[in-house]
Amino acid sequence: MNVFGSIEAGGTKIVCLIAKNSTDILDQWVIQTEAPEMTLNAIVSYFRDALSQHANWNLQAVGITSFGPVDLILNSKTYGHIEQTPKPGWTGTDIYGYIKNALKVPVFLDTDVGGAALAEYTVGAGKGKESLIYITIGTGIGGAFIFKGENIYSKHHAEIGHIKVPRIVEDTFKGVCPFHGDCFEGMASGPSMEKRWGMPANQLPDDHAGWAFEAGYIGQAVINLLYTLSPEMIVLGGGVMMHDGLIDQIRDYVASNMNDYCQPDAYKQDIKSTIVLPGSGNIAGAIGGLILAENGMKLNKKKE
Ligand code: ZN
Repeated sequence: MNVFGSIEAGGTKIVCLIAKNSTDILDQWVIQTEAPEMTLNAIVSYFRDALSQHANWNLQAVGITSFGPVDLILNSKTYGHIEQTPKPGWTGTDIYGYIKNALKVPVFLDTDVGGAALAEYTVGAGKGKESLIYITIGTGIGGAFIFKGENIYSKHHAEIGHIKVPRIVEDTFKGVCPFHGDCFEGMASGPSMEKRWGMPANQLPDDHAGWAFEAGYIGQAVINLLYTLSPEMIVLGGGVMMHDGLIDQIRDYVASNMNDYCQPDAYKQDIKSTIVLPGSGNIAGAIGGLILAENGMKLNKKKE
C-alpha cells in the first residue's frame, strides 16, 4: 500500500504522520523539539521503525512543514536549511537534506504556516476556494498566501508577521519584535499581549481594553492583505484567536475601516465567510505536509 509521510517541525514539538492521504491517517507520533541532531535522528528512527513493522507500507514521499525562517528557494545552495533562528543549535540545520538522505524518498518542503495554509485550502475552511491567506497569531505571527494550490513567493517565503501596522494613536507600547519593535508580530503576538498587559492573553478578561487593540492590529493587517492580494478568504488561527469573540471584533474593524472603498460585497455583507477561523484542526501543519507530499508526487515537483 502506498503511504505518505509528514513532519511538522514546530518550535516546541514535532508531529509526524504516516497516511494513505490527507484524510486517512494511519499513524501519528509527537516528540518535543530538542537539539537538531537528536531530534532529526528520532524522526528518522520513527519512520524506519514504523515502516519495518508494516511491511506493506510503501513510503512514496515525505512532506516537511518547518518552523522558519527556512530557505525555500529551489536553486539556492542552502535550500532546506533553517536560517537565523533563536532556537539553540538550529541555525543552518539542513532539515531537508537530512530527511531526504536518511529516508531515501522524495521530500517536499514548506514552512509550518505554509503547510497549515495548504491544509486550510485543501481540506479546511477554504476548501473549494481559489485563494486564501492563512495567518497564525500565537507565540509568533506568520502567514502564507495560497493561490490555486500554490504557496506564492519568489525571493523568500512570506513573513506576514513582520509587516508594518499603523500604531493606534493612544498606544505607547514599544512592541516586542527583536528586529522591528512595533511590526505586526511586535504589537499583536501572544508575547506582546503578555508584556503589554502583564498577563497572558488567555487570562485577559473578556471586557479588557486589550482585545480592542488586538482586533485593531489584526484588522489593519487583514485590510492591508485584502487590498494587496485580494484573496477570497482570510483564515485566522493560532492560540490568540481562540479567544471568544475576537474574530467578530476583527470582522467589525475590517468592515468599518475599509470604509466602502473597493470593498466588494464579499468583504462587506459576507464578512463572516471572508474572515474565518481554521477548519482543519490542531495538526493543520502536519496535514499540510501530507498534501505537499501527495501534490508533489502527482505534479512531479521534485527538486533536482
Ligand atoms: Zn518584526
